Amino acid sequence: SMTKSANTRPHEGGKNESTVSSIELEQQVFGDNPTEVRDTDHYTQEYVGGMVDKWDELIDWKKRSESEGRFFIDQLKSRGVHTVLDAATGTGFHSARLVEEGFDTVSADGSPQMLAKAFQNGIDYGGNVLRVVNADWRWLNRDVHGEFDAIICLGNSFTHLFSEHDRRKALAEFYAKLKHDGVLIIDQRNYDAVLDNGSGGNRTYYYCGDQVSAKPDHVDDGLARYKYTFPDNSEYFLNMYPLRKKYLRGLMRDVGFQKIDTYGDFQETYAESEPDYFIHVAEKS
Ligand code: SAM
Repeated sequence: SMTKSANTRPHEGGKNESTVSSIELEQQVFGDNPTEVRDTDHYTQEYVGGMVDKWDELIDWKKRSESEGRFFIDQLKSRGVHTVLDAATGTGFHSARLVEEGFDTVSADGSPQMLAKAFQNGIDYGGNVLRVVNADWRWLNRDVHGEFDAIICLGNSFTHLFSEHDRRKALAEFYAKLKHDGVLIIDQRNYDAVLDNGSGGNRTYYYCGDQVSAKPDHVDDGLARYKYTFPDNSEYFLNMYPLRKKYLRGLMRDVGFQKIDTYGDFQETYAESEPDYFIHVAEKS
């Protein structure tokens, strides 16, 4: 439940982010120059407090699973997958779904706050005890044991990596964590459309209904900063790297994935020909 006051002005406060541990943070901290925050490590300070709680209250899991359908489940089942690592568990939506479908699932995330929420959600929705592991993708093999038939990294999560080195490192860690015939599934927002439409992308997106809207606040080649507005008018921000589809496919190929299929997701509220999200399904052999 929301006991904290709504954070309607997330930039204020002037806390020095390097001295505040992520777990103590209740408010997002972007400092005086929010569009200069282009740092892979910043994600643990973005998914905090009100942002996490509200997001989860407002994005109806049932509606979300209806709009997503069986796409991921079918991809996994058609490949005979048993063991899955959800590398970007967040508040647990996909992990809970996988467990329900009978997959042997490990739920990892680099944010302890998100994992705490996911664990509680697992119990609240369906009474499942998720196996949560706090792990950053860049050091996945150090912190998660075993090999998996599949790794999923969904909900536009890979966009949080701000350097090519980090992207290559994360993909190499995913690759190493998979069995010889394993599959990696990563989705991403269609940033090509956002970057190429000239205005820097000014469309407003609504998540599962009209409760939460997302609007680009600043877009350039190195940053897509989105503003999320909730029904009580509180605002939160995420700073993301605008991945181009071809670029990400190229990186996956570079680390060794042999076959990469990219799907367009046409399930947003707007009926347009351009998909809002891409889903990459990458096979190791
Ligand atoms: N998959 C979930 C969903 O769709 O609801 C959560 C998506 S959320 C947008 C992104 C998640 O990725 C956050 O929980 C964040 O903590 C995690 N994350 C971002 N960068 C990470 C990194 N380098 N290592 C591990 N987790 C990371």
